[in-house]
Amino acid sequence: MPVDNAFTAFGLRKTLLPAHNFGQPTRATGILNQFKLPGEPVEMSKLVIVVHYHELWLKGGNRRFFLSKLHMALKRALEGLPVERILRPGDRLLVEFGEGVAAQEAVARIERVFGVAFYAVARVVPRGSDDDLAALGRAAWEEIRGEKFKTFAVRAKRSDKSFPSRTIDIDVSVGQYLVDQLRASGRDARVNLNDPELTCRIEIPPGPSLLVFARKIPGAGGLPPNTAGRMTCLLSGGFDSAVAAHKMMKRGAHLNFVHFWGGGARPGESSVHVARELVKRLVPWQFSAKLYLVAFEPVQREIVSRAPEKFRILLYRRMMLRIAERVARSNRALGLITGDSLAQVASQTLHNMAAVGAAVRMPLYRPLAGDDKIEIMDAARKIGTHEISAEPFHDCCPIFLPRNPALHATVEELDHAENTLDIEALIRQAIDAMAIERYRYAGGQVEKVESFKSATA
Ligand code: ATP
Ligand code: MG
Repeated sequence: MPVDNAFTAFGLRKTLLPAHNFGQPTRATGILNQFKLPGEPVEMSKLVIVVHYHELWLKGGNRRFFLSKLHMALKRALEGLPVERILRPGDRLLVEFGEGVAAQEAVARIERVFGVAFYAVARVVPRGSDDDLAALGRAAWEEIRGEKFKTFAVRAKRSDKSFPSRTIDIDVSVGQYLVDQLRASGRDARVNLNDPELTCRIEIPPGPSLLVFARKIPGAGGLPPNTAGRMTCLLSGGFDSAVAAHKMMKRGAHLNFVHFWGGGARPGESSVHVARELVKRLVPWQFSAKLYLVAFEPVQREIVSRAPEKFRILLYRRMMLRIAERVARSNRALGLITGDSLAQVASQTLHNMAAVGAAVRMPLYRPLAGDDKIEIMDAARKIGTHEISAEPFHDCCPIFLPRNPALHATVEELDHAENTLDIEALIRQAIDAMAIERYRYAGGQVEKVESFKSATA
């Protein structure tokens, strides 16, 4: 290993160690030589997962609120698994499991918890029971010996400054031990801090546990679930609105969903089952959700019979927004969400979106406005809604489709086109006939907990 590489490999500063080389004794490697490291494996009796969050949302006075929400979300996500306790040593959470936990299941559940930056199954080294650096070395070797890599680095993070060894000393001590073990087992792997294939991480939080892990799993990111307030999403069966929903959930909004289904469908062909499947796929991210199912054909028939053909789609959208706004108010939601993407289809030109959006007073969010279809499809694949939206279903909108839809409608034109519609009556009628379903995510399963008709939204 070139001297310069080794030098950076364990974060050694030039002032401390001008020519560090793992073959030669130096001040830092001298520290290592104080320990004769026996080769017995570290026992890992319990599964422990270390969870890191984004630091950004810790700014200001919201720290406690966000952290307790994240704690709660982890608890709910892991419901049904034998979680013994969730601790918060320093800037991380530690989930300790009891006997009989399936690690894969636990890992998969945490994948869907917003607010998690990254997480890992960690080896726990009890602090102070032995020589800590030696014990960390042994744990690190157990952690990486089964991995395939050509280059590696050790990175320690000492959040408890009372730990007697400095970060650099931990890096070097453990790094040296790993180099020795690798050599002894005839493996050809080098230290490389700039771009290592494998990074063995060591954390020294306050408390009795030192942590070692090498397989960092990226978390869902975003803010902890249910921290922002409520919103109502207009969920079609297509790709876009499910992705739009997920984006807003990721920012901490708790959503309920409104789906408009059309007539003309043969049994089993309707879009309702698609909307249900989408909601089921989205619920785990926020633990519960209501789905409002609105029969839209009566509204469409009125629009078709009374308004100019070229405005039909835009007037459907306006009525959808108005009905969803009513539902939103009844839920004390503070915003509406649609999956509109600028210029994706005729109804989504800037002119048309402005003219349609003017029908409601509640703030309307279009989180995909600036996204390409390809980006949206990729996101749908990642969150698992793609396969559901890709199934053919009977969308309500193409029914009575205009031959030449207006591309640049104005608010005035649409207001005028609605002149002879009894808007309030149409809204009431739709809401009176609306069905409501309630879904819950618990114990790793989504279940429908209630389903009822509502006379008042
Ligand atoms: P998506 O946009 O979800 O892929 P789509 O392309 O069929 O579905 P668009 O015609 O792009 O829908 O409609 C724009 C937005 O209007 C949707 O993203 C959705 O928010 C809302 N919307 C359209 N149809 C429905 C529906 N049947 N029920 C609820 N919302 C709908
Ligand atoms: Mg769309």
